[in-house]
Amino acid sequence: MAACTHLNQITITELPEAVDGCEDCLRAGQPWLHLRICLTCGHVGCCDDSPNRHATAHAHASGHEIIRSLEPGEQWSWCFADEVAMILPDVHGQTRIPPSPLGG
Ligand SMILES: [Zn+2]
Ligand SMILES: [Zn+2]
Ligand SMILES: [Zn+2]
Repeated sequence: MAACTHLNQITITELPEAVDGCEDCLRAGQPWLHLRICLTCGHVGCCDDSPNRHATAHAHASGHEIIRSLEPGEQWSWCFADEVAMILPDVHGQTRIPPSPLGG
């Protein structure tokens, strides 16, 4: 398994207590499926199974490579550049999220 070389991009080690949903979908009035947070700047976006794939779009636009799932019970992170999933023990917290508008 390839190792991620972008761990120095991580500035968010405490997850927010609650979020309202995908920032970009909320702004556009669009539905999302699952939520991901950027561990560099805290941007909350939606997964690749969502219609607008805002987490991936944010990574490409910003160069922020590492996201973490905000879904209840999920603790994995993902590096877009290295395409590697990982568990980051230094990232703490559990974020309250609203149910997906798509019912997923
Ligand atoms: Zn990486
Ligand atoms: Zn979105
Ligand atoms: Zn970011």
